[in-house]
Amino acid sequence: MRSERIGGFLMEYGANSIVTPAPAAEALVTQLGLDPEMVTRSAAARRRYLVRRGRMRSLPLQPHRFLLSDFFSLSARARMLMEPFIPVRHDDETVADFVRRRFGGELLEYVVDPLVGGLFAGNPAQLSVCAAFPQLKRLERCAGSVIGGVIKSRLQHAVRPAGDPGRRVLKSFRGGLGTLPHSIAQHLAGRVFLGHRVEAVQHWADGYRVKVRRGNGALWTTAESVIVALPAYAAAAILCELDQRIAAALAEIHHPPLAVVFLGYCAQSIAHPLDGVGVLTPAIEQRSVLGMLFSSTLFTGRAPPDHVALTAFIGGARQPQLALLKPRELEALAHSEVRQLLGGRAVPVMARTRCWSQGLPQPGLDHAHRIREIAAGAAEHAGLFLTGNYLSGVSAATCIQQGLDTARRAIQHFAPARARRRVVA
Ligand SMILES: Cc1cc2nc3c(=O)[nH]c(=O)nc-3n(C[C@H](O)[C@H](O)[C@H](O)COP(=O)(O)OP(=O)(O)OC[C@H]3O[C@@H](n4cnc5c(N)ncnc54)[C@H](O)[C@@H]3O)c2cc1C
Repeated sequence: MRSERIGGFLMEYGANSIVTPAPAAEALVTQLGLDPEMVTRSAAARRRYLVRRGRMRSLPLQPHRFLLSDFFSLSARARMLMEPFIPVRHDDETVADFVRRRFGGELLEYVVDPLVGGLFAGNPAQLSVCAAFPQLKRLERCAGSVIGGVIKSRLQHAVRPAGDPGRRVLKSFRGGLGTLPHSIAQHLAGRVFLGHRVEAVQHWADGYRVKVRRGNGALWTTAESVIVALPAYAAAAILCELDQRIAAALAEIHHPPLAVVFLGYCAQSIAHPLDGVGVLTPAIEQRSVLGMLFSSTLFTGRAPPDHVALTAFIGGARQPQLALLKPRELEALAHSEVRQLLGGRAVPVMARTRCWSQGLPQPGLDHAHRIREIAAGAAEHAGLFLTGNYLSGVSAATCIQQGLDTARRAIQHFAPARARRRVVA
């Protein structure tokens, strides 16, 4: 999570929003006194667009409208309605195999593929359905069908009214999501070392020693317990001396590169009303962006008056080579998509690019096995804990939930030692 004000624009380098309800994240926000800073998805961001045959199409979200919409061919709609009669498969499979088997190819190609591109910057043919969308597999296993399971759950919970706290709402902060880590750092001032890079963790006496670098200087520090909250590839690098097995499993988790291109335009130079969250593109449409967020529609205060802000995502598992282009080339690619899809009539007044050379973890069919290896390895080192998006799932809210759970486990680890010390005292 990192946000930057550039002129009157607000760019997000990573996550753009938190999906609520997210009890752990919301409790953390309250604890930090950040509730007054929170902003909610603006009412203008009503639609969600997908591209079909080179055109932007708004996809209805209500199930009956979704099925009646001419977005899908008649045969595709008939195939989707067959879903409750498709036999249950209990073992894991790829997201693509699951959706094609239960709903048919059109839903996969035009809805699930772009959604996977938007959520994971991933390819549904490479991701495990149990790891990426466990709730879908659960519905199939428990209710015998996804549609049947959804209807059953809706009947049980009735339809939620607009102000219901259970409704999914996108949230951020006035100053962007970077407000959250900044505020945490301020609250921990004096107890946390920022800008220090951990290079290695080793066993030392009854605990650990950690090699830390700041600039040209390196130092070793000792600890009774170590919580590794780094991306999997970075965790692999610092743990290789401590445990080869954990490091090898972490290093195998694939993180394709992902570029974020932020573009600011004069509002009158974009023909499209930008009346939605954004647009996602299916791979079959062969476009050069995974999707674009209408950032200044999604949350107010993201662009100066009479201007709009867009955020394009390029690369991921679909076209990793594109994410590695030079910033100028990425900006040109994103602008060309704005011209073709949104009717952009003039060049952007500002552009910024951030490339994550290792973006989001891709949980493939072997993911569960790797996670078991990592957990079994970590259990052999008392006081060592791991947390991060490769374990919890990529959503920032679940990362926060898992971070707090991990902190609780670390506190429990210390509890017997504290009790022992009290007895000795
Ligand atoms: C472009 C993009 C857009 C996204 N959009 C959304 C979104 O809108 N909503 C959403 O919910 N999620 C989104 N995500 C996913 C979400 O942001 C991540 O999954 C989540 O932030 C991961 O949290 P984490 O704590 O596991 O890791 P990180 O947030 O990556 O934190 C790891 C930290 O470790 C530090 N670090 C790395 N190596 C070392 C080292 N050797 N020593 C010390 N520190 C180190 C890093 O600097 C970093 O601060 C997005 C991700 C990306 C890349």
